[in-house]
Parts: sequence; C-alpha cells; structure tokens
Amino acid sequence: MAEQGLMDKLVSLSKRRGFIFQSSEIYGGLGSVWDYGPLGVELKQAVKDSWWKAMVHARDDIEGVDAAILMHPKVWEASGHVSGFTDPLVDCKQCKNRFRADDASIKGTPGTPDAQCPICGTTGSLTEPRLFNLMFKTFMGPVEESANVVYLRPETAQGIYVNYQNVLQASRQKIPFGIAQIGKAFRNEITPGNFVFRTREFEQMEMQFFVKPGTDDEWFERWREWRMAWYHELGLTPEKLRWHEHGPDELAHYARAAQDIEYEFPFGWNEIEGVHNRTDFDLKAHQEYSGKKLEYFDQAANERYLPYIVETSAGADRVALTVMVDAYREEEVKGEKRVVLGLHPTLAPIKAAVFPLVNKDGMPELAKRVYQDLKRAMPAFYDASGAVGRRYRRMDEAGTPFCITIDGQTLEDQTVTVRDRDTMEQERVGVDGVVGWVRDKVRGY
Ligand code: ATP
Repeated sequence: MAEQGLMDKLVSLSKRRGFIFQSSEIYGGLGSVWDYGPLGVELKQAVKDSWWKAMVHARDDIEGVDAAILMHPKVWEASGHVSGFTDPLVDCKQCKNRFRADDASIKGTPGTPDAQCPICGTTGSLTEPRLFNLMFKTFMGPVEESANVVYLRPETAQGIYVNYQNVLQASRQKIPFGIAQIGKAFRNEITPGNFVFRTREFEQMEMQFFVKPGTDDEWFERWREWRMAWYHELGLTPEKLRWHEHGPDELAHYARAAQDIEYEFPFGWNEIEGVHNRTDFDLKAHQEYSGKKLEYFDQAANERYLPYIVETSAGADRVALTVMVDAYREEEVKGEKRVVLGLHPTLAPIKAAVFPLVNKDGMPELAKRVYQDLKRAMPAFYDASGAVGRRYRRMDEAGTPFCITIDGQTLEDQTVTVRDRDTMEQERVGVDGVVGWVRDKVRGY
C-alpha cells in the first residue's frame, strides 16, 4: 500500500464510520483541530482507560489528579514556557504564510535573497527566523489587558507539580511515588498535520514520578521498560516501535535525559511518548517563583530534599492514531476487498454486534434479547439492515471483534453463530452462554 495512501484511507474510514471528523466542517474546518465521532470517542476512551488502569489502578505508588486547564500565569514563567516554549519561524512577506525555520521545503537560507517561499515561489521574500511562542493566550475576567493574561496549558505536567504536596499529604504516600493525569493541552503548532498526529488541541496522559536524587537513573530505566511494555500490550507491532535517545542538542531545557518511544508511521518514525528525567528543575523553579518550600521530608533518613522527577508523557490522540494505523489492513476475500481494523479487543469501540439473519420467523425478537443482554456487559451494536455479508464488512471496518448471528438453526437448537473478525471463522455457541463467551474473549475488558 502506498504509504501516504494509507493515511488518506484512514482519514476517509474515520469519517465514514464515525471515528474522527474535521472540526467545524460545515464552515470549512479549523486548522488541525479534530472532533471524535461515536466510535472515535470510544476508542480514545479505551486508550485512556487502559493507561489509567496500568498507571493508577494497578499500582499502589501512583495517585491520580485532574487539575484545571487554566493556571496562575506565574506557573508558566517558572516552568520556562513564557521565555522558552518557542519555535523559530520565518514569514513570507509576499504571501504572508509562516513556516518553521527548519521546514525542509524551504530552498536556501531564510533572510537571504536566494531563499524561496515553498508556497508562492517568490525568492527573497522570507524573513530571518524569529521566535514564536506556542502557548495560546486568553484573558481572565472582564478586562482585556495584559495584567489579566492567562494561558491554555501547553502540557498537563505543571498541574501535577503545583499539587504535589497536596497529594502527598492527602494520600500519605512516601517517596518514591507518582501522580498521574489525563487532560487537554493546547499548542499553537505552526506545522501541524498528519491527521491527529499533531494538533493544536490534544489530550495528554502524563505521569510524574517523584524520587530521591541519586535514584533517578534507575527509575528512568524502570519506567522505560514499563512504558514500552504497555504499547506491546495494546497489540502494536513490536518491530514498528523503537527508542530514540535525545542527544545533548535535542534535550529540552528541563531534561537531564530523554528518550522517546517512536512508531513507524506511514510518514516515517515519529514520537508517541517521551520519558524524561526532569531532575528537580520544575520544583526548584516553583519554589523560587512561589516562595513556598517544596522540599520533601524523609522521616526514615531524617533529611530534607527536593525530589527528582521522572516523567512519562504520551498523547491520547497520538496513541489512538497509532493503534488505528497499526490495525488497518486490506485483504482480498473471494475477489472482493475487505477493510479490517484489527484493533485489540480491549480497544475496540464495539465489542460485539448482533444480527438477525432475516427480519422474520422470530429472529429479530431473539436477536434483540441477546443484544440487550450483551449491552449490559459491554458496548454492543444491533444491525438488521442489508445482507449479512455487508453487515460483517461494516463491523470489520469499525474493528468489532465478534459478530453474533441469529439464524434458522438458532430457533431449532438454541445456538448462534459467532464470527471472528480476524479469521472470519464461524463457531456455534449456545444462546444462553454467548454473552459470557464473548466477555471471556474480549480480554482485559
Ligand atoms: P513533538 O516533538 O512531536 O512536537 P514534543 O517533544 O513537543 O513532541 P512532548 O512535549 O514531550 O512532545 O509531549 C509529550 C507527548 O504529547 C508527545 O509524545 C505526543 O504524544 C503528545 N503531543 C505533543 N504535542 C502534540 C500535538 N501537537 N498534537 C498531538 N499530540 C501531541
């Protein structure tokens, strides 16, 4: 499959089946902002649930929080985002388009007469690179003046740092311990694109692990291992995952060590999650800017210190995109094309669909009963329209692992057909036990 073709196919499948739509589409869309449809919201929720289970519910040493998007503006001064969260950009004086200075499509050096605008083709129209802050600004309260500027958070991490002592006291945790959060973040990205890979509004799944200085390298390695294992559990192709270690010139201002988990997308290897050793950079800065002591008192050792922080930071939208890319396949079945989203059952938006083979002979009534039972246990779907083959195809595209058909034989021997999405094999299962049968198969649900 031509690689960019796969992204186009995914965008069109997403719209057709209701995974992802362009934001404000009837107005021509809004640049790099997307909306999740009925299946997409379930998929992204399943990604977040799986992360929350692994990071919070399955562990004794991590607590959850949900901090507000709006924070005191000083937070972003302390974090370095006001001064440092910038990209170097160049403008075309002719067509007014703006580009990242490192945009590969720019010919020549911006700011010199030979540089050429990749959009309008004018030479000499590109300005020298200037720094542009990626944070969205707005005003709080009734007066639009600079004293009232607040920012939409560009990362969720800061909401954790400013709450770390509250959580520590309320939960009675001891270091080493972590705080996890899932929430929206906003970045005025200049070269967004590749569907939901890089958007201006997105959700992050971040965990900050507070450790004693000196034990940070060890925890960094542990977290690397656990985070990669999570992607394997989601069923991603292991050969399409790798580590990328940041060199000294790539490291963010706060990091001592950083490694990205990368996935091989149709448009190349790209980051899906970062694991960072942020040292005491953030707590030290917040301590200085707020004037509040943020040290930890270690009772056993009778010593005070500022904890070091190992961060794991992933994007829920980016992971949802990754699982869709990884799951998409086209097959030929009896001379016809079959499109399948082979999602791990834990992530599938619909776990099972129920069909009456025909709309007579009591089949719809029985099918509805099975559907109602199923729906109490898991997200299910009822479909009575069109040929059964077409109904299977629709569910294949939605990533539904199982389809249950009530047919003539059901009325005779109380068994139904269960068809497997991946093998397309059919098996007969007793109608009374079918809900339990599917539940066992939908591992981890
Ligand atoms: P990139 O280099 O891709 O811009 P980053 O290094 O700035 O990413 P981090 O600040 O480490 O990213 O953010 C952590 C995670 O948040 C990323 O791994 C990614 O999954 C997600 N993320 C960051 N920016 C975006 C975005 N604009 N759209 C969607 N997800 C994003």
